[in-house]
Amino acid sequence: MTRLIVAGALVAAASAAALVAQQFPLKQAVEVLKEGPARIDKVKEGLYVVRGPFVACATRGCRPNGPDDKLIHEAGDVAVRVTPAGLIVIDDKYPEFVPEVLARIKDVSPLPIKYLLNSHHHGDHASGNIRIREMGVDIIGHRNIRENFLRIKQPGEPNITFADNAAVYLGGVEVQLMWMGRGHTNGDTVIYFPDLKTVHTGDLIIDAMPVIDYGAGGSAVDFLTTIDNLLKVDFDTMIPGHGRIMNKDEVRAYRVRFGEMNTRMRDAIRRGATKADFDSLDKTRAQLKLVDLGWDNSVSTTAWYSSINAYYDEIARQP
Ligand SMILES: [Zn+2]
Repeated sequence: MTRLIVAGALVAAASAAALVAQQFPLKQAVEVLKEGPARIDKVKEGLYVVRGPFVACATRGCRPNGPDDKLIHEAGDVAVRVTPAGLIVIDDKYPEFVPEVLARIKDVSPLPIKYLLNSHHHGDHASGNIRIREMGVDIIGHRNIRENFLRIKQPGEPNITFADNAAVYLGGVEVQLMWMGRGHTNGDTVIYFPDLKTVHTGDLIIDAMPVIDYGAGGSAVDFLTTIDNLLKVDFDTMIPGHGRIMNKDEVRAYRVRFGEMNTRMRDAIRRGATKADFDSLDKTRAQLKLVDLGWDNSVSTTAWYSSINAYYDEIARQP
């Protein structure tokens, strides 16, 4: 009887796994971008996203001998929450893009920016802080974000910090800042608009391969737990760190895909793969079957590959 119950449970688990696989395609269907200026898109009533500018190679990423993935890239997605008392803006791209970002924001509201919130410290999301700070706007970020700014001597660090969670109330609107664990860095903050059931995740979720910045306290293992924590939040719409607006099922799919990559890495190491088996991007693509995941040449694949040794070490340390 016990055996039958166990067998039944196994069948149930197997069919649940099949259902998950069926519901969530393993391969990420990433958006193909075209070159062009920045634009502002409406997400929901009172919430907008500034995307672009869309440029060949990552900004500052085209080096004479550097990798060229032949893709069009964009700096981090900027979210704009309009309230009757002014604007709450999340991230600000590079300093040279700030005038264009401000112009696109003016297209939807004449009101001033009251608060700037950061998702994390990376330059393509937050180095524009230096321009926003000059406007007298307070910048709020997790204390690890401020520490990362100071560590890499990037000007424009947040002048208001918090340890776990914080909230901004402006014009009858509540915006929450939630630290959910390490992932892309040690400072990743999920910005939550509870009345709109929408989150801005920074680079915890992007329309491309996840990048792990080990130098800034990132972790591929903790990353999965952090996404699990994100999934507990009541949202139906997500603004990623880069790319198009997604829904919650796409975040669930991302979690499955990322877990699969970590499992493949662990299995390769257990089979005896050494760092030499990952010493080129092409070898790594083959080892981890990145094409299955849609990550063989996404906008972040070369950035992800720059951490391959640390990724190998982290997965190898797992029991
Ligand atoms: Zn980043």
